[in-house]
Amino acid sequence: MPKTPEEAVQYVKDKKIEWIDLQFTDLPGRLQHVTIPASDFTVKDIEAGFGKLDGSSIKGFTTIFESDMVLHPVLETLNALPWSPSVARVLTKVYWGGGKGRFERDPRYIAETAERTLAGDGYVSYYGPELEFFLFDRVDVDVKTPQSGTGYKITAREAPWSSSGNFIIRYKEGYYPAPPVDQLMDVRLDIVQTLTKYFDFAVEAAHHEVATAGQGEIDFRFSTMVETADKLQTLKYVIRNVASKHGLVATFMPKPMFGDNGTGMHTHFSLWTQEGKNLMYDPNDDYAEISQIGRYVIGGILSHARSLSAIVSPTVNSYRRLIPGFEAPVYIAWSKGNRSAVIRVPSYYKGMEKAKRIEYRAPDPSTNPYLAFAAIAAAALDGIKKKIDPGNPVDTNIYHLTSEKRKELGIKELPRSLDEALDELESDMEFLKPIFNSSILETYIDLKRDEARTLQMYPHPMEIYYYLDT
Ligand code: GLU
Ligand code: MG
Ligand code: MG
Repeated sequence: MPKTPEEAVQYVKDKKIEWIDLQFTDLPGRLQHVTIPASDFTVKDIEAGFGKLDGSSIKGFTTIFESDMVLHPVLETLNALPWSPSVARVLTKVYWGGGKGRFERDPRYIAETAERTLAGDGYVSYYGPELEFFLFDRVDVDVKTPQSGTGYKITAREAPWSSSGNFIIRYKEGYYPAPPVDQLMDVRLDIVQTLTKYFDFAVEAAHHEVATAGQGEIDFRFSTMVETADKLQTLKYVIRNVASKHGLVATFMPKPMFGDNGTGMHTHFSLWTQEGKNLMYDPNDDYAEISQIGRYVIGGILSHARSLSAIVSPTVNSYRRLIPGFEAPVYIAWSKGNRSAVIRVPSYYKGMEKAKRIEYRAPDPSTNPYLAFAAIAAAALDGIKKKIDPGNPVDTNIYHLTSEKRKELGIKELPRSLDEALDELESDMEFLKPIFNSSILETYIDLKRDEARTLQMYPHPMEIYYYLDT
């Protein structure tokens, strides 16, 4: 991948690229883009940035009074698109127009700030997200007459309700029978080959997930914060585009279907010294070879878990996933193997320093990865600074404990709704302040409150079913 403006211009020439797609991420986490002719992508232009963005139409960006913004390409992400060979996309950093510097609500800027803050304390953080998703044949949504509520119908080739004339997967049994029961291997292969051949990904695993119809997961090699968040945006983009080429709809919403597993994005996290020593590892710890710093990291994340939810589980739909019985976390506790706890310390390997990490299970892929990773780092740092003790690990299935027993063990629950999570964030955001400026926090909360309020105004079809005869 090119690094200097000269290399980027040469890349464009060599690959006979005619168009450059400038991309960036809005505040809720969606990838946005604007396309310019390759003839405008000169060394001089690259250095000056591209003033093609009206920030007033982008969620969480600017007002119409102050809307001219400039995009500066991150040249390492310049990449010819295999599905549109005359186009190369490039991720960008967002700046205020008129030489006024970096735009403080650019989510990527927050992750960059987080990396700098960590580096100031001598740390490097690593992230390994497990991205899950659904591939549906068709989604019919009736939103034409919102006054009457909405209805939706999902068609999925492997599902019992879609009589495809092929094998069907029973509820929660999608993980992971071999083809032809798994009918989506060819699509996943096309996705991972696109990633490895064209987008410089080290894919570590691709598989069907537990849910009945079309759920999959793709894992790639862990890396540093900004790089991993960039990669996640690319991964979602590639999954959507390749799926679409196969006539499928890829969705990352956390809970598209009642009664089956939802979509998570468990995030593996570790903290290292800049010299390359994994600070999470201690071979002398009998429980999980986890170090004292590792325990403080867990303490930090657990103590801020309710507030973090507003960032890592940031949609109304996220809270339909965070319920007992579907491998999604509900309880604020940590453990080695327990999948009902919000943090796990995977212990597959003994004596392997490099592999020691924690797995934080609350995040789902409706999160903005730049903000999610930065917030995780902020909680971890707070845990270390305040020496927050995570308490004892809990190795029983917490889903099955009575609420008295949970109280006795001091196990709290994650918030039950986006609004509750936002209340928590509002009352617990000091730990974010070294990394998140107040402008982005305020705008984020306003945006999310509005989202929660809007969705709350719609009578749900199931409410008609429950209440029609009251
Ligand atoms: N789909 C589950 C979730 O919502 C995770 C399944 C797994 O353990 O990979 O978190
Ligand atoms: Mg999974
Ligand atoms: Mg996992």
